Amino acid sequence: KEAERYVVVTGANKGIGLGIVRQLAKEGITVVLTARDATRGNVALESLKSQGLHNVNFHPLDVASQESILALAEWLHKTYGGIDILINNAGIGNADKDVTFETVKPVLDTNYFGVKNVTKALIPLLRDDTPVGARVIVVASILGQLEHLESKDYVKTLSDREHLTEDFVDSFANHYLKDVANGSQKERDWPIWSDWVNSRHGRGAEDYTVSKVAVNAYVSALHKILVAQPGREKKINVFSCCPGHVATDINENTGVKTVEEGADTPVWLALHSPEGGSGKFWKEREVLDF
Ligand code: NDP
Repeated sequence: KEAERYVVVTGANKGIGLGIVRQLAKEGITVVLTARDATRGNVALESLKSQGLHNVNFHPLDVASQESILALAEWLHKTYGGIDILINNAGIGNADKDVTFETVKPVLDTNYFGVKNVTKALIPLLRDDTPVGARVIVVASILGQLEHLESKDYVKTLSDREHLTEDFVDSFANHYLKDVANGSQKERDWPIWSDWVNSRHGRGAEDYTVSKVAVNAYVSALHKILVAQPGREKKINVFSCCPGHVATDINENTGVKTVEEGADTPVWLALHSPEGGSGKFWKEREVLDF
């Protein structure tokens, strides 16, 4: 009999996250469905149980709260000892479509700093000594591809896998927040001038794009760190991916894919951890340029 495996999914009370939980639970993996709101999380859990999926548990997690992250880590440690897969799915857009520090900060805190803080807190719990190793998946977006960033300097540094560091990715995200706070972001090459982004998503997509560029860059930097850890080579793989344009609340259900279709690539990466694919950006089960 295969050893029991454990996966944690963030932002899993609805949308793509819930689709991911359903698919992984059907594989027989024990899933920890997390959500920032306990009521919404438990409603989702009950809906899965009513579909016959009993290998799912709930624990609260607000990815924007360090206290909440540490409470989850402690609970996982006490309950399971370790985990095998982490899927960072929670994400938000800027509903105001207005670029001010107050509207932009939560987007960066959830989509970039949240992913990073959850990952850092849970990496020590990842069981890297199993035959299949551990995996970290980030649900990012094609909006996080560097082609949407106008700044040639940032494109150059963020795409330089050899020298990219976590600190540099932080400084990139913080630089954007500082520019927005000063009202000076319009004078710089942030993605506000990307016609493609504006035509599809409106001005408010600028901060979302910066957050997803940052998280894609973080995956690339994290891969390097994990590979460099003595004795841990290739035992924790990390992938970022785009689920495609999926009909969920984040886009007022204007997407064209179902959540089950959107969950496909993140679930496939979690289960198969394709050789040579760690640190890279994936869509439709294939590597794309970050
Ligand atoms: P939904 O809005 O349906 O789901 C987002 C989920 O994230 C919800 O469960 C939400 O919880 C949760 N969430 C938001 N903030 C936090 C937080 N601080 N802590 C914990 N959970 C949080 O959107 P999707 O399912 O579409 O989005 C899932 C991921 O896919 C996101 O990262 C998104 O950026 C990405 N994505 C989606 C695309 C699409 O076309 N739908 C395209 C590309 C990427 P709550 O219910 O409490 O708000």
